[in-house]
Amino acid sequence: MPYQNNITQLFNIQYPIIQAGMIWASGWRLAAAVSNAGGLGLIGAGSMYPDVLKEHIQKCKAATNKPFGVNIPLLYPDIDKHIQTIIDEKVPIVFTSAGNPKVWTKTLQDKGIVVVHVVSSSLFAQKAEAAGCNAVVAEGFEAGGHNGREETTTMVLIPQVRDAVKTPVIAAGGIATGKQMLAAMVLGANGVQIGSRFICTPEASSHQNFKDAIMQSKEGDTMLSMKKTVPVRLLKNDFYNTIKTAENNGASEEQLKEILGRGRAKKGMFEGDLDEGELEVGQVSSMIKEMKPAVAIVQEIWNEFEEEKSRVSEL
Ligand code: NDP
Repeated sequence: MPYQNNITQLFNIQYPIIQAGMIWASGWRLAAAVSNAGGLGLIGAGSMYPDVLKEHIQKCKAATNKPFGVNIPLLYPDIDKHIQTIIDEKVPIVFTSAGNPKVWTKTLQDKGIVVVHVVSSSLFAQKAEAAGCNAVVAEGFEAGGHNGREETTTMVLIPQVRDAVKTPVIAAGGIATGKQMLAAMVLGANGVQIGSRFICTPEASSHQNFKDAIMQSKEGDTMLSMKKTVPVRLLKNDFYNTIKTAENNGASEEQLKEILGRGRAKKGMFEGDLDEGELEVGQVSSMIKEMKPAVAIVQEIWNEFEEEKSRVSEL
């Protein structure tokens, strides 16, 4: 019997494994590869201009006949254009993050689109449920990129979100293996969203320098930075040190924004500037040691999840 639960049924997929939408990493190639492997691939629209998103959606449709989705950070400047593209192209699933889920959820659902919102606390999970979202992603402090200010870890967040809402819960942050997936499911999640592990794939659009930096990173090499502006977890480098020094010297939000400038993430993750770019990745970075095709990662995670499930009864 194939595995089934409320997440596989909601998205009509084989495994409850979702590849996170990641700016400068998850274009159509990665999303299609993960969907073809039986998970759910997401195109990360935060770094795409509206016409670029349209092209990626069309290429993704050509590369897979399985369901896939688009992730949009709600603070994206041209959000109404992205929403229109998604509706016009009949994308079946949208993950929203970094903003108020009340604003777009109904518009999308009225067009038959499944909407999932990413949250970092039980309170935000309840707000997403009240906005009518079909599921929530509960993302802990270990996660790369945008992060909650309260530093709640996945271990602590998932059981509380589980108790706070009735909608399906997808755990994110600190998950890269089948063991970690099982742990999240034991804590009450119905599925997992995995980002960082999928950056070290040939299908991810990020620069090879960034992929190599992840594979060489060690425990403790990522930090949550820029809490005064938008908190982001990233690999420590010269840029991080400049920000940290400014923060230690009491820099204002405006001063930090000025240091950050524009296009830092593109510089690091897409153009491969490991010193001056912003290198957004999660704590699991230190566990990633090799490049693998996305299909191999999905299969490896699922196999380990199944094996570990049987081992749990021996504990
Ligand atoms: P910046 O303002 O520093 O740069 C904007 C970048 O996005 C540029 O590189 C630009 O490309 C590109 N871009 C795509 N569409 C547009 C548009 N309509 N207007 C302006 N720029 C556009 O932002 P960041 O790089 O820090 O973040 C970009 C987006 O990604 C934001 O929406 C942000 O919310 C999201 N984000 C999400 C994260 C997550 O974890 N979910 C983490 C970090 C950011 P070009 O240089 O070619 O013009």
